[in-house]
Amino acid sequence: MEKSAISRIPYDFNGFQTYVNHHDDPIYIFGADIVGKMVAELFKYHQIPVTAFVDNNKNKCHAPIGGIPVLHAPTIASHNKNAIILIASTYIADIIAQVEEMGFMNWLPIYKILEDNSDKNLESFLVGDLRFNHSGGAFTEDFDSFVLSNMINSQKKYLDPDRLYIRSIDLVISERCSLKCKDCSNLMQFYENPINISVEELQQNLEDLCAVADEINEIRIIGGDPFMNKDCDKAIQMAASYPQVNKVVVYTNGTICPPEHKIAAMAHEKTFVFITTYGELSRKSNQLGDILKKYNIPFNIQDAYGWTDCGDIKQYDRSEEELEQVFRFCCAKHFTTLTDGKLFRCPFAANAERLSAMPASNENYISIDGAAALSAQALQQLKNKARHYLREISSIPACNTCNGRTYGDPEIEPGIQTKKAIRYEKYDRVIEIKALS
Ligand code: SF4
Ligand code: SF4
Repeated sequence: MEKSAISRIPYDFNGFQTYVNHHDDPIYIFGADIVGKMVAELFKYHQIPVTAFVDNNKNKCHAPIGGIPVLHAPTIASHNKNAIILIASTYIADIIAQVEEMGFMNWLPIYKILEDNSDKNLESFLVGDLRFNHSGGAFTEDFDSFVLSNMINSQKKYLDPDRLYIRSIDLVISERCSLKCKDCSNLMQFYENPINISVEELQQNLEDLCAVADEINEIRIIGGDPFMNKDCDKAIQMAASYPQVNKVVVYTNGTICPPEHKIAAMAHEKTFVFITTYGELSRKSNQLGDILKKYNIPFNIQDAYGWTDCGDIKQYDRSEEELEQVFRFCCAKHFTTLTDGKLFRCPFAANAERLSAMPASNENYISIDGAAALSAQALQQLKNKARHYLREISSIPACNTCNGRTYGDPEIEPGIQTKKAIRYEKYDRVIEIKALS
């Protein structure tokens, strides 16, 4: 953690409590989600008054949470600059930059407060309305614990300058999906002849990834629908076998329930399954949930929500400044995606590249192909490059092909189906011929 900023307010719980007892500045919790709610309830328990939640997503700002108002982040710019801002986000560096730009220097991470109160069973604070997201969907108790540990680990590790810590990697194991949502943000609606990714290719990708990254909090096994790939269980076990990987999370749409022996083979202490449901289309979700329970595999099951209009492919003519603006406010710019030996900032860019749906540019990704075989010196250079790409760049050329995913964009109906693959303009790809010498 950066000492200069963090030393303004003690971030251990006792120190924090003493500080607020001697100051009557407003207290904001930045992040109106599960862990932010836990902190608010914990503070009620300790009789620490919270002035408001703050969030970048306007759609979360319509109603108070547990009696506490939720303010849209830009609106606090004119507020008392001595306000204390507790950051309840795993992407802590982005929020620090945002609040400091508005002139708020009294921010602090929440991980130490959570750790210091671990004897309180923080998950038990979320009862009644607090168990619902802003669209009215409930989350499971498995999910509370999952996001709580993610928050603590991510905040602790993200700013460590000596390690390449990656919050999450989307590992594409299939282009195939059992649904064809016309607004799929991963662009599945554009694949005419979708394929599965082979176990051998996935193994190589993981090998290279784990050579470059010191720690990956979460490998997300995605598609399409990952269960369209019959080797999904092998991909899960492979990803879980790396000590650098903390969790392996499978994202599925509840339309497929793999055979029981395949589900049994997915069981691992690192496995978590996230089932997003699309009404009657997700007819296998309960059956899948029952089998997951049988094998003690934790899972969350939730209706699709929070979709925005970001599944279109179009060439915009944005200036450099406009590209930076789109990127800066994009909620998907940290959804690092691994496919084809390349790391992308988001699944949109990864799939637009797979589809050849944008002009070729090697600024859209960094190649980690062959990283596992590099010398120590070359590997360090690649790590530095990856760190820069994942943390410091201000946009990618792909943002000129994307409608953008700005926090708080108007929400659209999720899961509307299209019968046929949607047509799009394809760009030529230069065939790379590697020198033999
Ligand atoms: S959004 Fe729809 S099409 Fe896209 S991966 Fe999910 S279920 Fe498949
Ligand atoms: S705006 Fe840029 S970073 Fe965000 S999803 Fe689109 S291409 Fe990716």
